[in-house]
Amino acid sequence: MTTIHLNNLVKRFGAFTALKEMDLEVRDGEFMALLGPSGCGKSTTMNMIAGMESPSQGRILFDGKDMNGVAMGRRGVGFVFQNYAIFTHMSVYDNLAYGLKVRGVASAEINRRVTAMADFLQLTPLLKQPSAKLSVNILQRLAIGRSAIVEPAIFLLDEPLSNVDAAFRAVMRTELKHLQRQFRQTMVYVTHDQLEAMTMADRIAVMDHGVLQQVGTPLEVYNDPINLFVADFIGAPGMNRLRGKLAESDRGLLVDLGPLGLSAPLEAEVAEDARRAGVSEVVYGFRPERVTLADHGGIPMPVTFVERIGARTIVHFGLGEQVVKAVLDNNAGPVAGELAHVVVEPDALRLFDAASGVAIRKIR
Ligand code: ATP
Repeated sequence: MTTIHLNNLVKRFGAFTALKEMDLEVRDGEFMALLGPSGCGKSTTMNMIAGMESPSQGRILFDGKDMNGVAMGRRGVGFVFQNYAIFTHMSVYDNLAYGLKVRGVASAEINRRVTAMADFLQLTPLLKQPSAKLSVNILQRLAIGRSAIVEPAIFLLDEPLSNVDAAFRAVMRTELKHLQRQFRQTMVYVTHDQLEAMTMADRIAVMDHGVLQQVGTPLEVYNDPINLFVADFIGAPGMNRLRGKLAESDRGLLVDLGPLGLSAPLEAEVAEDARRAGVSEVVYGFRPERVTLADHGGIPMPVTFVERIGARTIVHFGLGEQVVKAVLDNNAGPVAGELAHVVVEPDALRLFDAASGVAIRKIR
C-alpha cells in the first residue's frame, strides 16, 4: 500500500499543455477515479504515475519518495489498459501465473494464488483454455486478474471496462470494488463514465481541459459541485439550470427568475459571498431527483416530454429556453402538454455565478 502525491504536475506536448499544475493526494489504499471527458488529460496523468511519460514540471511521490527517473518496472505499479494485453498463445492459467513466474515465486505458491484469483474472478472453468478463444469480456477480466495477482502496491486502470458490454460492465464494477477491498491496493482508475466513478471510487478527481476541477467523495461532488462543469458532468440527467438575476429587496438578496418568478431570499452567508464577488447574473442549480410536483404554487411550467426508464420516470418541463428535468416515481403521471407546478426542495438549491460558472459559496 502506498500514498501517491502529485505536486504541481504539468505535461506539455510541444506548445500544447495537456495537464496544468495538478496537485492531488491519493491516500493509502484509496480508490481514486480520474473522471472527465475525452482529451481532458486523464491518461496523460496516469501514464506519468506509471512512469511511461515524464512530467514537464512538478513531482510524483510514492510514500514521499520522488519517482523522477525511476523506471516503470521499479515503481511497483500494476497497469490495466482499455485494450487487454494478454498472451493469446498461453492458457488462462499461464497468463495468470506469468507475473509470478518472472518474479521467481515458488510453483506451489503460484498454484495457490492462480487458483484463488481464478476463483475470485470466476475463471476457474476456463483455466486450461487457450486465451485466443476467449470473448472480449473474459479477456479483460483476465487482464485485470493478471495484473492484480502480483499484488502491486499501486494498481492503475485506464478505462478497463470501455470495450466490454453493458451487462458485463455492471458485473465488473462490483468485482473491481471487491478486488480492491480484498487487496487494499492504492487504486487510480481512469474513466469518462461518471457512473463507474460514482459507484466504485472512494473519491473522484474531476478533470476538464487539463485542469483538476474538484476532488471529493462521490456524494460531495454530486451534492456540492464546485462549478457548472462538475454539476453537468456528474449525474444523469445532470443538474438543472435556471438562469436568473440577483435582485436586492427589503427581504434581502433574491434570485429573479424572470417569467418564472422570484425565489425566496438567499441565505445571509450566500448573499454576502455574491455581493462581495459582484455577481449579478446567476444560475440556479438543482438535481432532478430533488424536484417534486405540487397541485399549485411552485414554478408553473408545461410538461414537454415524458421518458419512462423503467424504475423511474424522467419528466421534462420547458418554458422558453429554460428546461427543467425531474426524476419522479414511476407511477407519477404528468403528460406532455399539461401545466405542472414544479417544486424544488429548498436544501437542494445551489447557486452559481453565470459568468464564471463557479459555485457562489466557493468564490470568496
Ligand atoms: P481519452 O479518454 O480520449 O484518452 P484523456 O482524458 O485520457 O482522454 P489524454 O489522452 O490524457 O486525454 O490527452 C490529453 C490531451 O493531450 C489530448 O488533447 C491529447 O490529444 C493530447 N496528447 C496526449 N498524448 C499526446 C502526445 N503524445 N502528443 C501530443 N499530444 C498528446
